Amino acid sequence: MMENKEELARIITAENGKPLKEAQGEIVYSASFLEWFAEEARRIYGDVIPASAKDRRVLVLKQPVGVAAIITPWNFPSAMITRKVGAALAAGCTVVVKPAEDTPLSALALGELANQAGIPAGVYNVVPCSRQQTAAVGEVLCTDPLVSKISFTGSTATGKILLKHAAGTVKRVSMELGGHAPFIVFDSANVDRAVAGALASKYRNSGQTCVCTNRFLVQKGIHDEFVEKFAKAIEKELHVGNGFDAKTTQGPLINEKAVEKVEKHIKDAVSQGASIVTGGKRHSFGKNFFEPTLLSNVTTKMLCTQEETFGPLAPVIKFETEAEAVAIANAANVGLAGYFYSQDPAQIWRVAEQLEVGMVGVNEGIISSVECPFGGVKESGLGREGSKYGIDEYLEIKYVCFGGL
Ligand code: NAP
Repeated sequence: MMENKEELARIITAENGKPLKEAQGEIVYSASFLEWFAEEARRIYGDVIPASAKDRRVLVLKQPVGVAAIITPWNFPSAMITRKVGAALAAGCTVVVKPAEDTPLSALALGELANQAGIPAGVYNVVPCSRQQTAAVGEVLCTDPLVSKISFTGSTATGKILLKHAAGTVKRVSMELGGHAPFIVFDSANVDRAVAGALASKYRNSGQTCVCTNRFLVQKGIHDEFVEKFAKAIEKELHVGNGFDAKTTQGPLINEKAVEKVEKHIKDAVSQGASIVTGGKRHSFGKNFFEPTLLSNVTTKMLCTQEETFGPLAPVIKFETEAEAVAIANAANVGLAGYFYSQDPAQIWRVAEQLEVGMVGVNEGIISSVECPFGGVKESGLGREGSKYGIDEYLEIKYVCFGGL
């Protein structure tokens, strides 16, 4: 099994350039969902409800929804599959996985492991396809009456297309969509912890995760110290290069379009008065590599604070009051993750409750793990994955009334 884990990690690095150490971390994360949901399968409890009539007994059964179509992105080519498939198989569903065009190998490797593990043929199915075919394959999966459930992870724009398709046959849907995570540093924060959290939350996978911080909001009193320490940490601790090189922490972006988006956000911000503190351009290592970048003097009028960059760009907005920070954080049509650093307990409760997101990191920059419910609010999606709640996405509730007793 250890050998398989190493092989799977190397496949991920080869597929999307993620540094090998991060890919190894993804494999552990990926495997954790299979283990977790194998256990959860033993706890799909029904219910006995006290009946209102003496001659009746009422039972509740939980049953698999049926065939689940699973559409996944390239940024976590293994874990985004197991987070869904683990729950689906545990619930008793069969699955059809459509991986991203950029990363079909992880999905196929999981198929080989499923064979080796004795999963019966036809239970875990993979349909890789070229990008030209994606829309047509997606439409079939979302409209075929034999499919009962769609579980999708990817952009909000694609999620909306799939939701429309799925409406025709009223399928169950789970949507893990885009984010725009705020990271707020209040004056009371431990600045060194905040910098460590910022580094992890922003630059993991070169900024290409849906829960990566997309905008930093830093209170006036701590702003200059935070920016200075953050820039130093970026320059000292991040190394751009080949994912197979042990020193590398930052691999390439997935494609030219992704690099262009980072460039566009920087150009727009600088043209409106932002300052480049560090980074700011493509890295000399290769055309899809980008320097980890920090911008200060950022305002909410700039593009990088209005939409997901999905790259190694950290824009910092200075704010004065807690109410102002919460208002900026919540002024988004999406709400996946949000982070803040504070050592004031009353403020911690207030802000944690006010942030319009599905997941909050308080004095923590990395918060995903198998036992915690993953998912967003607003246009970040529908449903939750992982945790004790994840299996419900693949179960129907059936009520049975025994009468005439
Ligand atoms: P994307 O373009 O939406 O692609 C995701 C998946 O959907 C790929 O398999 C893609 O296939 C497929 N797809 C695209 N258009 C489709 C269509 N019309 N019908 C059916 N399938 C279609 O997303 P992306 O830009 O690659 O991924 C990054 C986005 O995913 C970001 O917004 C990020 O925030 C989000 N994300 C969310 C989570 C979460 O858990 N909430 C996790 C990771 C990423 P092709 O590769 O063939 O185009």
